[in-house]
Amino acid sequence: MRVGIGYDSHRLVAGRKLIVGGVVIPFERGLAGHSDGDVLCHSIIDSVIGALGLGDIGKFFPDTDPRWKDAVSVEMLKYIAELVRVNCYEVQWIDSVVVAERPKLAPYIASMKEALSMSTIPAAVINIKAKTEEGMGFVGRGEGIAAHSVCLLARIR
Ligand code: MG
Repeated sequence: MRVGIGYDSHRLVAGRKLIVGGVVIPFERGLAGHSDGDVLCHSIIDSVIGALGLGDIGKFFPDTDPRWKDAVSVEMLKYIAELVRVNCYEVQWIDSVVVAERPKLAPYIASMKEALSMSTIPAAVINIKAKTEEGMGFVGRGEGIAAHSVCLLARIR
């Protein structure tokens, strides 16, 4: 077994779609980033890469690489899910916390699990929790959204 931890945060800015966990969420601002800024997806990706012992997301998807400009992060997760298979592991569990003051994300959790399963990681092994920061810090002030994830991998052969 291998465990990995992932963390990410992105700034909320005007003129961008808000995409969290692969779901477009109606809101007046969206997450800045080289890709679609999907903070939840990125934290999951980093947890999986961590469990594989292969460094971090920046190594696989550098923000200087035009290939990943405005990339769909679920596609990035799909790429990493393939890396899991190539390394003879299987994703056993992912648990995530996405922290946003606004908008309320809890109503979108089922859709997020569905969207994330397009990466080939089954929705049945993904758990997502939506929290606020109770008004504290950059999340509390509505400056951005953060996400934390852990991943458990099992060796399959
Ligand atoms: Mg990111």
